[in-house]
Amino acid sequence: MKRAQIIQSIRETPSWDMIVIGGGASGLGTALEAVSRGYRTLLVEAHDYAKGTSSRSTKLVHGGVRYLAQGNVHLVREALHERGLLKKNAPHLVHDMGFVIAAYQWWAAPFYGIGLKMYDMLAGKLNLKSSRYVSKDEALRHAPTLKQEGLKGGILYYDGQFDDSRLAITLLRTFEQHGGVAVNYAPVVGLLKDGAKIAGVTLRDSETGETIEARASVVVNATGVFVDDIRRMENPQAKAMLSPSQGVHVIVDKKFLPGDAAIMIPKTEDGRVLFAVPWHEHVVIGTTDTAVPNVDLEPRALGEEIDFILRTAAQYLNPAPKREDVQSIFAGLRPLVKAAEGGETKALSRDHVIRISEGGLITLTGGKWTTYRRMGADTVNQAEGLVKWQGKPSITEGLKLHGWTMDNLEEHWKVYGTDAPLIQKLDGATQILNPELPYTEAEVRWAVRMEQARTVEDVLARRLRALLLNARASAHMAPRVAAIIAEELGYDEAWQQAQVREYSELVNGYILQ
Ligand SMILES: Cc1cc2nc3c(=O)[nH]c(=O)nc-3n(C[C@H](O)[C@H](O)[C@H](O)COP(=O)(O)OP(=O)(O)OC[C@H]3O[C@@H](n4cnc5c(N)ncnc54)[C@H](O)[C@@H]3O)c2cc1C
Repeated sequence: MKRAQIIQSIRETPSWDMIVIGGGASGLGTALEAVSRGYRTLLVEAHDYAKGTSSRSTKLVHGGVRYLAQGNVHLVREALHERGLLKKNAPHLVHDMGFVIAAYQWWAAPFYGIGLKMYDMLAGKLNLKSSRYVSKDEALRHAPTLKQEGLKGGILYYDGQFDDSRLAITLLRTFEQHGGVAVNYAPVVGLLKDGAKIAGVTLRDSETGETIEARASVVVNATGVFVDDIRRMENPQAKAMLSPSQGVHVIVDKKFLPGDAAIMIPKTEDGRVLFAVPWHEHVVIGTTDTAVPNVDLEPRALGEEIDFILRTAAQYLNPAPKREDVQSIFAGLRPLVKAAEGGETKALSRDHVIRISEGGLITLTGGKWTTYRRMGADTVNQAEGLVKWQGKPSITEGLKLHGWTMDNLEEHWKVYGTDAPLIQKLDGATQILNPELPYTEAEVRWAVRMEQARTVEDVLARRLRALLLNARASAHMAPRVAAIIAEELGYDEAWQQAQVREYSELVNGYILQ
């Protein structure tokens, strides 16, 4: 559907079963769950799908080895189950990745080995390959740049890896295929009430300035670190539910980790884990955990966070990346939940949290990308209870996501699944946008026509991953991308210039000055 038709259908629909606010992992997961159970569902996103935390993850589909170390067995089992389902339902977007934990002390391999055997066990029938001890030589075969001095061997275990914003777009497409309506660049600016009960939202079309009222039986607030803003639209006195923390990653060339495996550093100087993971012919290294007083849509990495990542990587890698090797830096905010407040019910105790206000606003937050489906299912179950619907069974455990294929596509085209041959038929399928990255002009056209991309940033940051992989190279692509979008959507020269200017400003936050 074209944007004008989407807006028209929102204007003309007298009432929805459910409105979901927020187009990240939580919102998309909930919206797909609702629509696939047969509920008329509208999803409203203020900026672009996955603009928030959901495009800024470590790119792992995992149970969370760290939670296991904390003894949180239930949580790990649930996430490992979801890991297995996601691999089955989106094999074009999720693949197995080996992780080497290097052992430099005699006790390290048996210590981590036992924990990872348990990790395998908790995955049950959906386990990936089993973890095992590896010799020094084998560790180096998988991760050739590991520091060799004192290396005794290690553990090789398996988790999943994915492309986060591509999964978001895939969920969007699946949601639309089931009859759901989703709109981006349409912030919710107010909540509608019937007496004290939440009865819908007021949204603003950012492109035209028009405000529209949309009514629904249930409204779900899935706005990530912005959930408190929406809660305060109902109750201006509501106390903050979140205390967010920031996580930073740096991206470097694949030569710093040229093997087939990632490395996992189980204990950094601040007691966390750090990953270096091959991703789209580059390496993602992170992350950090820094409490932040304010939330921002474009959080900025702190100098000390980048120093910490490079310093820690240098203890394990040889050669180690230096500041001048960093091709991009990105920061994301974790929605960490504080204790519940009076008048609200804490519906479920999981890694994610669902709270229902007195007026019936359902807030979903916390959790992780890996468990988006479970979070969506729990939220729709809560909604069914709240509105006293009969309750319909969930079908998402076995629901194949848009583009599903087991075909072994060429690496670059994999994320599109069955869409790949369709994109390859478009104009510009062999026209590379910049020699540093494999992206083509045809993909830009596809993003605009089929994936609701509206701006240069939507294309370069989330439909393609150029901003994260090589921020400077992505800036060189911006004028051509602006020209293609303008051609597709009928924009003028001034629009293109403004887009390129805005994009260059954005890029400044992703490069080391
Ligand atoms: C550093 C880091 C690394 C991580 N790594 C992993 C990992 O490897 N694997 C994993 O499984 N999980 C990982 N996670 C967790 C995972 O990324 C998050 O749990 C998930 O992305 C949160 O999604 P969300 O939808 O709740 O929030 P978001 O993605 O932030 O989405 C919220 C959306 O709401 C929109 N919004 C805000 N206000 C409004 C409004 N008024 N109207 C309409 N829309 C609005 C925003 O624009 C945004 O798009 C990581 C998290 C961090 C911070």
